[in-house]
Amino acid sequence: MSLCRADRFLLTSAAVTAGSAAVFGPSLLSLGVPLGAYAVMMADGVFRPASPIFYPTLVRGRTDRPHVALTFDDGPDPEITPAVLDMLAAHKARATFFVIGRYLEKHRTLGERMHREGHELGNHSWQHSYFQNFYPASGHGREIDRCAQLIKSVTQSKSEPWYRPPVGLKSPAMARASHKRNLKVVAWSIHSRDTMIRDPASVARGVVNRIRPGDIVLLHDGHDHEQRHRPLILQALPLLLQGLRERGLSSVTVSELSGETLPVASAPSGARLAADDARS
Ligand SMILES: [Zn+2]
Repeated sequence: MSLCRADRFLLTSAAVTAGSAAVFGPSLLSLGVPLGAYAVMMADGVFRPASPIFYPTLVRGRTDRPHVALTFDDGPDPEITPAVLDMLAAHKARATFFVIGRYLEKHRTLGERMHREGHELGNHSWQHSYFQNFYPASGHGREIDRCAQLIKSVTQSKSEPWYRPPVGLKSPAMARASHKRNLKVVAWSIHSRDTMIRDPASVARGVVNRIRPGDIVLLHDGHDHEQRHRPLILQALPLLLQGLRERGLSSVTVSELSGETLPVASAPSGARLAADDARS
């Protein structure tokens, strides 16, 4: 099997460091300079969600149309998600929901409603553990596969859903698991800060002032602690959708924004099926 990008990165780091020590002799400088540089790149690969160092990661979509992608993480939440779906429907907006598998299992009808109303379901792991980034590749694989299987059964699709790792963190083990499954991994170009800012108008304004065609926006309709909720989105989303409309932008799914499938509204059903088959 071919090496994933993270393993090629690690091998190159080791080779360059060994080469430096061989050429210049082992010293603080000959070992420290390459090791320091690779440590900085490692940190970028782990902590910056948009980093492509360990694995190719979609951050923005196509910019030739007035389209953006709103994405909602950590649901479905029975107290919040239905109202989010109502608001999206009122604005004829489509979105991508990066669901936590154990929540989707409990609230399967919400997942079915998302799919029925033209939204996309993305994989956000089964547990959404803060420790997942320390798991070996097999542990990442279990988290990915269990959620993906449930999504496929909810949407009756064979296509592998987009994957967004918990907290957006990556590791070489995560990259190996993703490479093995040929996963499409997506981060975001705009973080709405809806988990940090308490004023919904500021959240909406912060996104609308920055947004351009092709942007992928991170929002939350759920909370990774099951007893807690994120009601701020209920006030922020109408303002955000209104702001998009005023800027002439419409929200589509991540797949559409990435150019992977034709827009649902204008695609003949045969073409859509063919596109689905091609990806399955
Ligand atoms: Zn999350």
